Amino acid sequence: MAGTVSHLKDLDYSVVQQCMHCGMCLPDCPTYDATKLERNSPRGRIALMRAIADGELEATRTFGEEMYFCLGCLACMTSCPAGVNYAELFEHARAEVEAQKVLANPKRSFIRRWTIGWLFMDLKWLRFVGWWMRLYQRSGLQRLLRAVGLMRLLPKNLREMEAMTPTVQPKFSAAIIDETTPAVGEKKHRVAMLVGCAQDLIFSDVNRDTVEVLAENSCEVHTPRNQNCCGSLHAHNGEWGLAQQLARRNIDQFPPDDYDAIITNAGGCGGHLKHYAKLLAGDAKYEARAHAWDAKVKDVHEWLADIGIKIPKSNGSETNVTYHESCHLCHGQGITKQPRELLRAIPGVTLTELPEANWCCGSAGVYNITQPEMAGQLLRRKVEHIKTTKSEVVATANPGCLLQVQNGCDREGLNIRVAHPVTLLAEAYRREK
Ligand code: SF4
Ligand code: SF4
Repeated sequence: MAGTVSHLKDLDYSVVQQCMHCGMCLPDCPTYDATKLERNSPRGRIALMRAIADGELEATRTFGEEMYFCLGCLACMTSCPAGVNYAELFEHARAEVEAQKVLANPKRSFIRRWTIGWLFMDLKWLRFVGWWMRLYQRSGLQRLLRAVGLMRLLPKNLREMEAMTPTVQPKFSAAIIDETTPAVGEKKHRVAMLVGCAQDLIFSDVNRDTVEVLAENSCEVHTPRNQNCCGSLHAHNGEWGLAQQLARRNIDQFPPDDYDAIITNAGGCGGHLKHYAKLLAGDAKYEARAHAWDAKVKDVHEWLADIGIKIPKSNGSETNVTYHESCHLCHGQGITKQPRELLRAIPGVTLTELPEANWCCGSAGVYNITQPEMAGQLLRRKVEHIKTTKSEVVATANPGCLLQVQNGCDREGLNIRVAHPVTLLAEAYRREK
């Protein structure tokens, strides 16, 4: 592999050597819990990464498969007493896998080129695909094909994927959110709203709810058109260079000095958006601006807790709600109490703690597509815990979790709604009016 970039060898060695092999992260790692194999544990994976960084091991196909068997859930970071930055190691390890092409094959390369390399680099094409999907779903064609059993002719993995296809929203964010939404009452803050990529297609309603909630809390909200993906998909899948391109575009589109905060409502995006300075380290033009950017990016729950939530006055009906934590919100950003406080602030809501609330639901980006077996195990475990809470609503703050948990509940025939906490708050404000 002479001549190719080595992301692990080039990584700051203080990050590579942090692990002291204590094993305290092992009980919290979902893949280790499932297999009890050291190689499927954080400690085992870090040992492999370090061996490559030390030049004792070459990146191989087995190494690549191991890095993609890891969920990237970052539960190991929460439990690690030594403060190992597994997020950074994991991103560099996957970048190493891609740089050394140890998993490359024509089908995989084709899919990656057209999705990560094209659709998610220029969101007008993603919206174009979303528009056709919406037509397919709303014209009745999808229902017809399912009813006549045509889907049964598909290979098992495609059939399962088709069954999980999310419903595309009737309108995308730009059609339901103004470029500038004034604050309700006195304006105290000026914020920008990130609408996301898949989030814009599948949960534009959650984006609208977020803007409404921000406006209710004295924020003037700017939602620029033609936004870019945050790049987490790229960074988590080893495409470091593409993630850097997207970070630069976002900083240009949302100059940090123009806003009090740059708001995201997706746990998975927020975990990545707050680390542009690391991504753009050494970039003479962008590094300083990336530091300013990182300081301004706020998860919506975090921001509302910072400025103080306006408590809705409405008397909603009594609702039993439980809360599933997005991995990158709790383990990646350390945001755990703010979403719970927001839910408790809604009149009528009783919050019941979910056992293993911070255990991954198996969504993990595209993990439920690439590793359906492990993802399915995790989802079944999650749904069993949800049942014990006897909740009518599961609140969760990441598009992947919203889809995954709703799919799991629907498959079991449970009459449970899965909703973003901010949606529940927006509904409470609307009831006031
Ligand atoms: S990120 Fe999650 S799956 Fe991967 S090693 Fe850490 S705890 Fe295990
Ligand atoms: S990652 Fe942290 S908790 Fe896990 S073995 Fe290393 S030092 Fe211990």
